[in-house]
Amino acid sequence: MGDVSGASAIQNKNARAGENCSLFQQGLRPDGRLHGAFSGTLLYYSWSKCSAAVPAAVVAASRRHCESETPSRQPAGRRRYRSAPEVRLAFTTEKSRQAYERTLGVLIEASSSSSRGPANFGRYPIFMERGRGSRIYDVDGNEYIDWMMAFGALPLGHAHPEIVEAITEAASTGAHFASATPVELEVAEMLQKIVPNAERVRFANTGTEAMMAAIRLARGVTGRPKILKFEGHYHGWHDDVLVSSNVLPPSALGLRSDPIKIPDSSGLNRGALDDTIVVPWNDLPALQRAVENHPGQIAAIISEGIMANMGVIPPAKGYLQGLQEIAHAHGILFILDETVTGFRIAPGGCQEYYNLSPDLVTFGKALGCGLPVAALVGCAEVMDALQWGGVLHYGTHNGSRIGMYAARANLRVLTRDNNASFVHTWRLAERLCEGFRELFQKSGGAVVVQNVGPMFQVMFTDRPAIHDYREFCQFVDRAAFQKFVLSLFPFGVYASPSASLHSIVTLAHTDEDVDQTLEAAWKALEKSV
Ligand code: PLP
Repeated sequence: MGDVSGASAIQNKNARAGENCSLFQQGLRPDGRLHGAFSGTLLYYSWSKCSAAVPAAVVAASRRHCESETPSRQPAGRRRYRSAPEVRLAFTTEKSRQAYERTLGVLIEASSSSSRGPANFGRYPIFMERGRGSRIYDVDGNEYIDWMMAFGALPLGHAHPEIVEAITEAASTGAHFASATPVELEVAEMLQKIVPNAERVRFANTGTEAMMAAIRLARGVTGRPKILKFEGHYHGWHDDVLVSSNVLPPSALGLRSDPIKIPDSSGLNRGALDDTIVVPWNDLPALQRAVENHPGQIAAIISEGIMANMGVIPPAKGYLQGLQEIAHAHGILFILDETVTGFRIAPGGCQEYYNLSPDLVTFGKALGCGLPVAALVGCAEVMDALQWGGVLHYGTHNGSRIGMYAARANLRVLTRDNNASFVHTWRLAERLCEGFRELFQKSGGAVVVQNVGPMFQVMFTDRPAIHDYREFCQFVDRAAFQKFVLSLFPFGVYASPSASLHSIVTLAHTDEDVDQTLEAAWKALEKSV
């Protein structure tokens, strides 16, 4: 289902002008004001231009909008412009620009994480002020459909009422105690039920922290010094794993049979990377060779279940099972990093979806539904070494009461009605990805859309699929992707302009969001021609 696929055939070649009224309407914001070009330009958008060839799915969506307007999403302001032949669109991010200038000299790159700054967003990032459901609103009052959802940390969307209620209750009765709490136990028991191998649970705050604990635990339990990670996989920003996870020129990578380890940062503890082995992913013979070259030395093989930091790259059929077999045949622990895939691909994550049996699993992002909650879970034999006097793991905020309240409410909603939320996100993602494939096929763009369930990425490449980091570095046009994403902003669609990240469908997204996004993409492409 989903996984890698190219563009599919398009059925209706051209749409008649009269069928495109909602394309036209999408230039309007909910307050009746108008979207236009990014960063303050005024543009003219002509009705006849809107009516050029449009994919069938988009036309159908447009027609639905024209025929039956949803009152909550169709403010009166739109109607006035329905049949106007031409409209002037104004979209400004001037207040974001001003805010950005204020950050200079205070906040480095305007935020607290480099991926939110100009490195990805061009001149300046958009400053977001609030969110609700699938939508976010910037300081200039622009509304966007949010496909980033806090880097995947919001599986229910923004301000879900049950999360708001849970957080409010915890905040008003004690956000955190220096003690054990009943809610911590409750969430741990929920994880035991939901995640196949979660015999024991330890909470942390971020995916990075959970992975640090997992690595220390693996070293402690096996008495071995080395860890093995894969090219292009990201497991947080700590020294042991911060290697070969940024996009680099192909000429820097060395041979596939003997990859060059490339630190991602200055300032790393040099000794840390001596014990980190880097191997190409989706390549079992390469893994087998690396393991055999380090007999009795490797404590853990660490892998994402789906590569989520080079767009979206699924595992080859049987690859993760093969990896697991190699690990266990050599007394190596298998650490599955489900920071991204946990509570997203299936209730039990990739472990459940691909039927795996890892020794340790890390979670983060989606678990706290906006609050910093992470977890390390695994088999009792390994996890019990975290007891006092064994492998040390501390943390003032670990298992904070407020975070646990959020996680409990989140897991309840996600698994309600026989896991209906997963059915919803998978279905919508298929619609959206298929719509993108049709659209790019029609527009002649060299693009593949890769997804596994609700995680998807549009990759500008002339290859039929991207299978690993090396292919990503060599064949994906990241500048074209950035341009495409930035061109969506004026049409009310928000995603990260970084090609190596990905977008996410959540419970808050709707069919209407999918339709509007495809319409926006079509308009953005037309405008760029
Ligand atoms: N592991 C994976 C697969 C991730 O994608 C990330 C973050 O994006 C992390 C670990 C680190 O998580 P955090 O940013 O919560 O420290």
